[in-house]
Amino acid sequence: MTWQGAKDIRVETVLDPTIQDPADIVIRVTSSGLCGSDLHLYEVLAPFMEPGDVVGHEPMGIVEEVGASVSHLDVGDRVVIPFNISCGSCWMCGRGLQSQCETTQNRDYGTGASLLGYSKLYGQVPGGQAEYLRVPHADYGAIKVPKDHPDDRYLFLSDVLPTAWQAVEYADIPDGGTDGGTDGGTDGGTDGGTVLVVGAGPIGDMAARIALHRGHRVLVADLVPERLQRVVGRGGEAIDITDLGDASLADVVRERTDGRGADAVIDAVGMEAHGSGGIKAVHKLVGLLPDPIAEPLMQKAGTDRLEALLASFDAVRRGGTVSVVGVYGGAADPLPMMQMFDKQLTIRMGQANVRRWSDDILALLNRDDDVLGTEGFATHHLPLEEAPAAYETFQKKEDGAVKVVFKP
Ligand code: NAD
Ligand code: ZN
Ligand code: ZN
Repeated sequence: MTWQGAKDIRVETVLDPTIQDPADIVIRVTSSGLCGSDLHLYEVLAPFMEPGDVVGHEPMGIVEEVGASVSHLDVGDRVVIPFNISCGSCWMCGRGLQSQCETTQNRDYGTGASLLGYSKLYGQVPGGQAEYLRVPHADYGAIKVPKDHPDDRYLFLSDVLPTAWQAVEYADIPDGGTDGGTDGGTDGGTDGGTVLVVGAGPIGDMAARIALHRGHRVLVADLVPERLQRVVGRGGEAIDITDLGDASLADVVRERTDGRGADAVIDAVGMEAHGSGGIKAVHKLVGLLPDPIAEPLMQKAGTDRLEALLASFDAVRRGGTVSVVGVYGGAADPLPMMQMFDKQLTIRMGQANVRRWSDDILALLNRDDDVLGTEGFATHHLPLEEAPAAYETFQKKEDGAVKVVFKP
């Protein structure tokens, strides 16, 4: 699946990947997710893409070739590949900050660890919506998984699960429930702290599942009814933002939390939030400008659509935490500093450190009961040939598309 221009992605035949470094492996991809982050490349981040770039960063598959220094894998093993590429041995990786890996950082652009299939900002590494994939630093990154469940049980270890997991960890939702820990307990006490998840796409949905699993009260806001319905089905409380009348999202949250606001808020929307037409026009324009003009414009003066973030600052209680997991890319975003300071907010954000959490999550996935509902998580399984149409459907949130998985 190659990027060819803004809103133009196409299936092309490219050279098969080969081992280039002893720490590489090559896999035959059996499943590969489509992510909200791919949609940013589709339009907003177009200045940082080149025609022919292979996209996709949520792959799993079967090992076909193994580099000389990869000792934990053999040909035929089943592996999930983290979306960030990290070495496992640098200062950052040693501190659980794999998305800041100092070996794969992109210093030319001032960005963190390289990502599979994710633009010049993140290393321009060929991605995983493909039949075959070269996995750099596979000696540390590639996660070996058992063969006794369908792909979807494990696939989301590449991105959705660790991202949502980190969002919940960083949200620092107060305990009080019977199981607030990370040990994968089964009980679901209801007296834990309250978290508001803004956005019920795959990331928000999974973050809600994880918070519910840990015994917290979960409110979820979105504007797509079937997305909200999925979360309600697992015990969350929905807030449809098209249904607010004169109230704001924060008003409704305060109403449901003794006037105080949520203990923690997870922004699982990011820079393409629904709401502000003006910025949307700027994004469109940046996407259409020639790269030499658009690239510095995005880096120096770029602005995000801030609806979800501003609603998060408003809806969190005083002294609470906002965990920003949705991606932002602007350099000149106006923020309500007085409100943020006065409410004494804690704000955490960033790209998920996949390997920081993957062992804990894998232990949970290996249980028989599929406690996070991963096997029923995807709404669509499609051949790669249908990817161009699937990107469009996913962006427009049509056809009930929440999580699309390609089967190359
Ligand atoms: P998505 O686009 O499917 O989900 C976004 C959801 O937000 C949609 O359901 C949309 O209807 C909803 N929404 C839009 N505006 C809203 C508003 N104003 N209020 C409430 N809801 C609103 O994408 P996704 O795959 O779930 O990803 C969500 C975000 O997480 C994206 O920004 C993605 O790039 C980011 N992400 C971050 C990481 C990370 O490592 N931090 C990893 C993966 C994805
Ligand atoms: Zn992703
Ligand atoms: Zn590293």
